[in-house]
Amino acid sequence: MKEGTYLFQRDQQMMSRKDIEALQLKLMKAQVRHAYDNVPMYRKRLDSAGIDPAKIKKLEDIAKVPFTKKDDLRDHYPYGIRAVPLDRIKRLHASSGTTGIPTVVSYTSHDLDRWADLMARCYSCAGVEQTDIVQNAYGYGLFTGGLGFHMGAERLGALVIPTATGNTKRQIKMMKDMRTSVLCCTPSYSLYIIEELAEEGLSPSDLDLRIGMFGAEPWSDETRKIIEDKLDIAAQDLYGMSELYGPGVAVECPEQNGLHIWSDEFLVETINPDTGEVLSPGEKGEIVFTMLTREAMPLLRYRTRDLAVIEYEKCSCGRSHPRIMRIKGRSDDMLIVGGVNVFPSQIEDILMRMDELGEQYQIVLETDRLDHISVKVEVSPNHWVKADMKELTKKVEESLIASLTLRAKVELLAPGTIPRSEGKAKRVIDLRKRI
Ligand SMILES: [Zn+2]
Repeated sequence: MKEGTYLFQRDQQMMSRKDIEALQLKLMKAQVRHAYDNVPMYRKRLDSAGIDPAKIKKLEDIAKVPFTKKDDLRDHYPYGIRAVPLDRIKRLHASSGTTGIPTVVSYTSHDLDRWADLMARCYSCAGVEQTDIVQNAYGYGLFTGGLGFHMGAERLGALVIPTATGNTKRQIKMMKDMRTSVLCCTPSYSLYIIEELAEEGLSPSDLDLRIGMFGAEPWSDETRKIIEDKLDIAAQDLYGMSELYGPGVAVECPEQNGLHIWSDEFLVETINPDTGEVLSPGEKGEIVFTMLTREAMPLLRYRTRDLAVIEYEKCSCGRSHPRIMRIKGRSDDMLIVGGVNVFPSQIEDILMRMDELGEQYQIVLETDRLDHISVKVEVSPNHWVKADMKELTKKVEESLIASLTLRAKVELLAPGTIPRSEGKAKRVIDLRKRI
């Protein structure tokens, strides 16, 4: 980092390990107390685990607290795990549910303010400055991406152009005419922009882009290289999820060697996903976060299902906030394709609901630069002769989009084509190469 570079909340970004831990302890005690006093679910759980919030004395004591899972949020639909009266909730976001019940997250004024700060820190840590022109091509709406990136850029003091998703020609026109210097979108959308630029005969030198803020889906280092090369930018990775405010949990610094977790808000642990046992630093496991200042919806030990190694060594950028090294996979069967999280059982649900289809199917995951999913499914013997295959293919593809927002290539097969198994059927064939 250049000497004298402006950093948003420099003190918080550059806190020492010792100061981080002292602050975490203070905030964690208060947050466990807040959850216990104001959320019946937490009071009940802590009581049955025999935990008195007053007896939480050191950071390691967090391990005594029961986990919170995504199902807990759904079980508390519509207003979620709420610790404040409704008149103090100032915004809701929601993500599409795996069971039809959306996961709703709520924010007080403090929470929105804090989220904006954390996102502004992400921009700043990634190298974005107040003088930058930020084009935000994330979706605005119930999804946390659009407003999260928007608020953060405004908080930093940059100029924000809220183009939202889609209309790529207009994105490029704005980018060119407004001299956009920072592009926020999913990595896959940036690849699409690259194709469109080539089609229009434009090169990076026709643009002023210098940084890309890319999150919301896992992407490989190879994809990063392509994006950096074709757009002539630094492509920075971000991590977040709507349950944890949204984007803004962790971000890469210019070293691009892991994502710094803002650990004065997110107390991180790594656990064995099968036993729940806390692992030592450096061991790969499921990452679990306790939010330290959240008012509306306290989350104690929230299980992310993401598997990663957390690096606690100070980064060469000078920051001591621990880093998430590349996420290696999910702790269960969840598939992540093109920014959509989906369980094979959900795909199965949709296929099995259609009379025209048989029971045998396979989900094939492949990757070139991006992940692709195809669903191969047998047509039921009754429909094999008479069904219009083109129309049926379209119907299945549209059902997957409508219910799961999943864009899959559907291939219909004759009855009896998929190899039968005597043991557990191999439903998911993952041909993606993972580093
Ligand atoms: Zn760093």
